[in-house]
Amino acid sequence: MIDLKNLTIKQAHESLLSGKYTAVDLAQAYLENIKTKDSKIHAYLEVFSDVLDQARESDKRIASKDRVTVLTGIPIAVKDNILIKGRIASSASKMLENYHATYDATVIKKLKEAGVIFLGRTNMDEFAMGGSTENSAFGVTHNPCDLERVAGGSSGGSAAAVAGDMALAALGSDTGGSIRQPASFCGLVGFKPTYGAVSRYGVMAMGSSFDQIGPFAKSTEDAQILFDFIAGSDIMDSTSVSPQSLALGIHKGLALGPIKIGIPKEVMKVEGMDEAVLANFNQSVEKLKKLGYEIQEVSLPNLPYSLAVYYTLIPAEVSSNMARFDGVRYGLHVEGANMTDDYFKSKQTGFGPEVKRRIILGTYILSSGYYDAYYNKANIVRDLIRADYKKAFEIVDVIITPTTPSPAFKIGEKINDPLKLYLEDIFTVPANLAGIPAVSIPSGFKPVGASKLPLGLQLLAASGNDKLLFTVAADFESK
Ligand code: GLN
Repeated sequence: MIDLKNLTIKQAHESLLSGKYTAVDLAQAYLENIKTKDSKIHAYLEVFSDVLDQARESDKRIASKDRVTVLTGIPIAVKDNILIKGRIASSASKMLENYHATYDATVIKKLKEAGVIFLGRTNMDEFAMGGSTENSAFGVTHNPCDLERVAGGSSGGSAAAVAGDMALAALGSDTGGSIRQPASFCGLVGFKPTYGAVSRYGVMAMGSSFDQIGPFAKSTEDAQILFDFIAGSDIMDSTSVSPQSLALGIHKGLALGPIKIGIPKEVMKVEGMDEAVLANFNQSVEKLKKLGYEIQEVSLPNLPYSLAVYYTLIPAEVSSNMARFDGVRYGLHVEGANMTDDYFKSKQTGFGPEVKRRIILGTYILSSGYYDAYYNKANIVRDLIRADYKKAFEIVDVIITPTTPSPAFKIGEKINDPLKLYLEDIFTVPANLAGIPAVSIPSGFKPVGASKLPLGLQLLAASGNDKLLFTVAADFESK
């Protein structure tokens, strides 16, 4: 029996090398767990039928010492909006229910080279729009810590797969919090890299100026291992940048003294914050002080506008990115009376309510007469938010906030009120607006009835300082 609960990538790697167990044994252990647990959790939309074949390949590589990396034979799960050649990638939408990817996303190509085993594709909010996976066209994902609650979203399936020990790690995408929020709800580490640090080639675009692919893991070290493998510039994504130019790994930090951590004073004024979240955040601050970090207050004066800016720019980018799903080139086609009718019928049938809502809003925001009032104005404020962070990072190295204003909520609790769901994103969207790296790490629990609901601490750093986040996160985690 392999103890999957406490397994890390490095431990698994060592066991595979020493022959304690094989990649087939390990993959089998995860498949067993999926079989017994996933009917209640629904983390996966599909478990691949060739998992054991992939594992046998890994075992061959390990036996012949052929291109063995720390990820060779490591079973991971992949969010359903990341393309794996020949496999279905549906973005949890009826629109792409039977769409087979024609190429590998760059991150997949890199992980294949590293020898990773892909267990399956995970559930998500349709086209990554949402924060609970309730917008999936294929049913909700349940939180392994409390089955009545959401696992978060939009990458809820990836989070639940790792938290339920149905994958050792997973990939998700984060446009406004979709890695960090589910990580926080499920008690995991979830990392959103600096915009451009990871190629977006082969991830279905939601908000192209926001999207980043990142890892879910049970430890900071595991998340960093995955990040190191997937990061880097890519000729197929002109917004990706080389680690050098991002200064990845370099703590540009202020002087060499102790790392300085800032708490934005605007955060404390956020309405509707759960008391347990606030108390836990204060505990985290005390812990960081004890670890020797210098804590000080910083100001991000435009932070209160981030939700309004995000939910103006995102529908605009969504409406443009969703235009390609016209029923002709990809996925679902519903025949109408004429070509225009084809479009109407295909989109009407293929898209769920949240996607439609954003297309309609975004089209309005981008229409002549409103473009300046909404889209342009929001972009101007986005620049102000960026400038706020730039200024703050001249004073501190890292900024911390809670990841979410509340722990995982009940399934059905917020789905009928989109605004309530949008408010959940208050702490996560600023990092995407500013393009900076951010990580959510487990910071404690809120006991509710028989459940212990995980809480998360979010750490943010200046663009390119991804490694600094791992350093502080690992320090926090180890003590
Ligand atoms: N909850 C946010 C939204 O609905 C974030 C989604 C994401 O990061 N993909 O837009």
